[in-house]
Amino acid sequence: MRVSIILACTDCKQRNYITSKNKRTNPDRKELKKYCPYCKTHTIHKETK
Ligand SMILES: [Zn+2]
Repeated sequence: MRVSIILACTDCKQRNYITSKNKRTNPDRKELKKYCPYCKTHTIHKETK
């Protein structure tokens, strides 16, 4: 039940991370605070398709 997702920075829209999640326990879009090398700071990264 694990699917791979891409995490994109909400500031610059760059896709910085590839991760996976459990669709059953995490049906909603994931939001994580991660370091963005383009913004050079920590930003919210959102799951994208
Ligand atoms: Zn960014």
